[in-house]
Amino acid sequence: MSSTPVAVVTGGNKGIGFAIVQSLCKQFQGDVYLTARDPGRGQAAVRKLQEEGLHPFFHQLDIDDLQSIQALRDFLKEKYGGVNVLVNNAGIAFKVHDTTPFSVQAEVTLKTNFFGTRNVCTELLPLVKPYGKVVNVSSSVSLSSLASCSKELQQKFRSDTITEEELVKLMTKFVEDTKTNTHVKEGWPNTAYGVSKIGVTVLSRIQARMINEKRKGDHILLNACCPGWVRTDMAGPKAPKSPDEGAETPVYLALLPADADGPHGQFVSDKTVRTW
Ligand code: NAP
Repeated sequence: MSSTPVAVVTGGNKGIGFAIVQSLCKQFQGDVYLTARDPGRGQAAVRKLQEEGLHPFFHQLDIDDLQSIQALRDFLKEKYGGVNVLVNNAGIAFKVHDTTPFSVQAEVTLKTNFFGTRNVCTELLPLVKPYGKVVNVSSSVSLSSLASCSKELQQKFRSDTITEEELVKLMTKFVEDTKTNTHVKEGWPNTAYGVSKIGVTVLSRIQARMINEKRKGDHILLNACCPGWVRTDMAGPKAPKSPDEGAETPVYLALLPADADGPHGQFVSDKTVRTW
């Protein structure tokens, strides 16, 4: 088994994920894994970085596919005995003018952004080594969407005692409510992406609390963040930040020094903790 530290980035073949891998290759003292759901796109991205003199490794990972997540888990366990840095970056968003029925957009968006990210965490968090860092790429849209939720939902999502099971029930309820077109009446904002990212931010707060309860003394730091509005296939060419700039906050959180005791369980943008 290798004692080399290891960092893993999901959705690394393009956009912000690619820039995170590139930056970690330059700064992280250890092996960096670019993961992608499509091996062709993933290997092409690895080659691009190799041409720059960088040396990322590749592993397939589709966060929608539990078997794929478990294959990565087993690989990391066997080769490295765990993982030091995990960046949950993979995500999707329907375009504003997409005519896919809203209930389908809700199901598909939540499947990847919330349930997929959660499944990766369920399988990989137990493998995170002491002093490890976990970064869940959420979005500032989670904050603005929270403000558009009913008072009752806001209270639930801001609660310091909400459990992962309760959060899963709420995310499932949102998808169900869109199917009966009752989501607005039930207090939800009219954005599937926004709700999925509320899920990612709240999940991060819960996971950080669990780390405090179950692994106190392991000095693991886990946070949610927003990369900013970044020029990628997802956000389009008008966004102000380059992918390199978008990678800055996730990489800052991934490389917090070993003696840092925070941030932990926070929502961070522009390297600054925001009030949830
Ligand atoms: P992007 O250019 O569309 O890249 C998304 C990445 O996620 C791609 O590599 C994509 O792979 C991958 N992905 C999607 N579904 C996946 C799955 N099931 N399994 C594994 N990988 C999957 O988007 P981006 O702008 O870089 O976004 C990266 C993250 O930042 C997302 O979580 C996004 O929500 C968040 N974010 C972005 C912005 C922004 O302004 N761009 C703002 C706030 C937050 P394929 O190439 O195979 O599709």
